[in-house]
Amino acid sequence: MSPITHFFIGWTVASSVPSLSKRDRALVTWASVVPDVDGLGIVAEKWTQNSAHPLNWWSEYHHVLGHNLGFALAVTVLGAIFAERKFVTAALVFISFHFHLVGDLIGARGPDGDQWPIPYMLPFSNRWQLTWSGQWALNAWPNFLITGTLIIATLVLARRRGFSPMEMFSRKMDAEIIAALRCRFPSRVTS
Ligand SMILES: [Zn+2]
Repeated sequence: MSPITHFFIGWTVASSVPSLSKRDRALVTWASVVPDVDGLGIVAEKWTQNSAHPLNWWSEYHHVLGHNLGFALAVTVLGAIFAERKFVTAALVFISFHFHLVGDLIGARGPDGDQWPIPYMLPFSNRWQLTWSGQWALNAWPNFLITGTLIIATLVLARRRGFSPMEMFSRKMDAEIIAALRCRFPSRVTS
């Protein structure tokens, strides 16, 4: 799935505990995006593709380095270190990370039909290469449906709770979004 979809899945996981602090919400949300840092090798690969020594970092390491249990545990420990509520945040970070893996497993088939098997047990074992035969393509309609549904859920929650994922980027824009939502969809409860 695309980083946008992973982001909203992570935000939804973070929203499952309403009392989480802003920082802890951010940790849980980004845990659902962070496996794809192993895709950053695309920069080196594109840069060197016509050179004498091409670096195939994207082809070789995307869906490998960051998509496994070892990386999940490392991210969970980091989450616990930086979190305010350590235990609940670390647990949600672990879950959020795994939603990324499940998302890729079910809906990230490449344009060339490549399934990107997930070597889940790395670095402990190379035995498991997870794939699912029903996997749909990265740009298939279920991914758009899931992303659209998550965005609507995010807006509904934002209107109700008074914050949105924009809080991670700009407090001012977050406040503007909430004001706009509450103006457009005023509370039906009258005194
Ligand atoms: Zn991924």
